[in-house]
Amino acid sequence: MIITLEPGAPPSAVEAVVRVAERYPGVTPRPYVFKGMTETIAEVHLIGSTASVPTEPFEALPGVRRVVRVSRRYRLIGRHDPGAESVGFTCNGVRFDDRTLNVFAGLCAVDSRENVAAMMAALAALGIVTTRMGAYKPRTSPYDFQGLGKACLPWVFELAGEHGVRVIAMEVTDARQIDEIRTALERAGRPTHVMLQIGTRNAQNFELLKQVGQQREFPVLYKRGMGISLEESLNACEYVASEGTPDIVFCLRGVKTHLGDPHRNLVDFAHVPVVRRLTRLPVCIDPSHSVGRLEAGPDGLSDIFHVTGQGLIAGASMVLVDFHPRPETALCDGPQALTLDRLAGFVAYARRVRAAYDEVTAAAAAAAAIPAAAPPA
Ligand code: PEP
Ligand code: MN
Repeated sequence: MIITLEPGAPPSAVEAVVRVAERYPGVTPRPYVFKGMTETIAEVHLIGSTASVPTEPFEALPGVRRVVRVSRRYRLIGRHDPGAESVGFTCNGVRFDDRTLNVFAGLCAVDSRENVAAMMAALAALGIVTTRMGAYKPRTSPYDFQGLGKACLPWVFELAGEHGVRVIAMEVTDARQIDEIRTALERAGRPTHVMLQIGTRNAQNFELLKQVGQQREFPVLYKRGMGISLEESLNACEYVASEGTPDIVFCLRGVKTHLGDPHRNLVDFAHVPVVRRLTRLPVCIDPSHSVGRLEAGPDGLSDIFHVTGQGLIAGASMVLVDFHPRPETALCDGPQALTLDRLAGFVAYARRVRAAYDEVTAAAAAAAAIPAAAPPA
């Protein structure tokens, strides 16, 4: 059972809920605070055997907005109240929520200082403060490039600081890498910050998910499992949240089936509104790993642009996308990397589609608020 308090309810209101909950044997009350876009909401979750606990004593308390019995398992990430605001967070001055648009354009895998510098300079020229930089690469073959690992972290962080990049999405494949990232950031004087990416191959690595959840310093970018159900991926995110880290972005990146051919994966961005309905997490889309190639339609727009548009018009608020100064030399995923001369166009395209989404949703909300005109007599 989840008891939601009115925004701004005093701590005494939370304490009153906890006192009532403690009257019921086998029930443990756990208070939480969720920071929405405009308001902060306190909730008390009742854990244990709540089936026979009545809702009325809680509903009667001052400051209580709503009491819901949760049969669904997404206790922490779930959107239990359809009208509830999404939970967002701020990372190193960059806001992540339903209303923002953050484009994380960058290298799939860090390969050379020169390429990282060129990528970051291109971002800085457009005022973009977010990027992706893979240092630890989970590769299908042990003979493929495995990423530069911790050796590249000092200069990647230094270059980020020089170019005003504030948040870097970086995959971790082992919990020890979190410490390596923290140490390297500290040594570099914290010139930037990192969002820990859980890749699709680790989507159900529960020990890694727990370890990532046990730290609060870095937000988490969780990539949907390529061969598991959406429900299983959402439960995996709940692991992260249940260990203590609420700052999570859910990323769709396509699912593995030959039915997506000739794309690398079957694009699953129709799930953007589903994830937003079921959870309060901001949703990211990864057009590069979904499509995996650069071909364009007869309109001249590449499939990567098209699916980006499809995800953004469906309400995604973050894009993770591969760029590379010289894709033909990239050590990982070169065939899907856009070149830097396309960065400005990509960002402008993403912003236009996002603006169209804002416009159509505002129009739909206004239409819903106006009573239908009476039919002519
Ligand atoms: C990546 O983003 O670098 C990556 C490996 O993606 P995924 O885990 O979605 O395959
Ligand atoms: Mn990749």
